[in-house]
Amino acid sequence: MIDDAFQYQKEKMKKIEELFCSFAEKMKPYSPIEPPDQVAKRLNLNEVDIIKLDANENPYGTPQIVLDALAKGKYYHIYPDPAQIQLRESIAKYVGLESENIVLGTGADELIDLLCRLFINPDDCVLGFVPTFTYYEHVITLNRGRYIKLNRNEDFSIDSDQAQKQNLDQVKMVMLCSPNNPSGNMLDESILDHFLKQNVVVIVDEAYFEFSGVSYVNQLKQNDNLVVLRTFSKCFALAGLRVGYAVTSSKISKMLLKIKPPFSVNVAAEIALKTCIKHFSYFEKQVNQIIETRDQTIASLQKFKELTVYPSKSNFILCKVDGIPAQKIKLDLELKGILIRYFDVDLLRNYIRISVGTPDQMESLIQELSGILS
Ligand SMILES: *Cc1c(COP(=O)(O)O)cnc(C)c1O
Repeated sequence: MIDDAFQYQKEKMKKIEELFCSFAEKMKPYSPIEPPDQVAKRLNLNEVDIIKLDANENPYGTPQIVLDALAKGKYYHIYPDPAQIQLRESIAKYVGLESENIVLGTGADELIDLLCRLFINPDDCVLGFVPTFTYYEHVITLNRGRYIKLNRNEDFSIDSDQAQKQNLDQVKMVMLCSPNNPSGNMLDESILDHFLKQNVVVIVDEAYFEFSGVSYVNQLKQNDNLVVLRTFSKCFALAGLRVGYAVTSSKISKMLLKIKPPFSVNVAAEIALKTCIKHFSYFEKQVNQIIETRDQTIASLQKFKELTVYPSKSNFILCKVDGIPAQKIKLDLELKGILIRYFDVDLLRNYIRISVGTPDQMESLIQELSGILS
């Protein structure tokens, strides 16, 4: 009897596997970072002692003013506003444009997905410049698009000749990222200008705008094919609440609002976002501190012979590693409770990426690195 039931169950499982669309089965999983509580458990460390420098989050945590506002929220039993009226107004003021130019999502990630859904028919092409944020490839593929990847130059700038020569007949969308993750360098405006003149949608991912201070939102006045993406996950310390926004033409924002899930941005995120904007000067000071810490950290890292340190306009630092596996640096630091990213893929052979933490955290990092590197 039990055997029969087991056999039946097994056959049923097999059938379910056949039900998945062939394409989802073939997809590579997107591999984000391991959560700190799990790292702590695995390594028998205290979660509070973990120094998390692997996902470019705000090292100072969510400020008390925001936590207090969240605690005072009274309307968590009510659905959020699907038209996002108040949020779009606050963001419009922050950006210096109109509400009709703003759409919010559960992180910039959701907006990238919505943009793919809005523009990609099966087999339409999306152009990107690698290495860059790897989620683009995942979500383009998931939406049945084809990702055309052009390699960046050795300093991670975009090859202008190659970009200009690229045939765009099959291309619907161009993904640009400024500052680029994981390299930290800015997009050259002439590249943006070139693509804005073509018959394509141009996405500029400005997830780290507050650190670079350079934005392309002003290009919207002349170009209704531009979408600038921003997030509250990095500078504003709300990565766990999932909220980001698109700044774009009213033609595109109308469509995004039409297709988005009605209640994607939650009421807690709404409260936190409004409080962050109200206290912007608090974050401005933090950003200045992070920039100062970044530049000091770059100077300290340059002293290690094994590292080639790339300049950064963001809150993370990319280093090429020679003479020792990047993975070993990652694992050795992990044993000390310091989490960083390492890459060992085609265009990032033996690299590490370190998010800029507090001055104390950076001191611990440099100290531990001194025991690993020369
Ligand atoms: C972190 C990051 C995002 C994702 O932001 P969320 O708002 O947290 O989804 C988007 N783009 C880049 C380049 C990032 O580094």
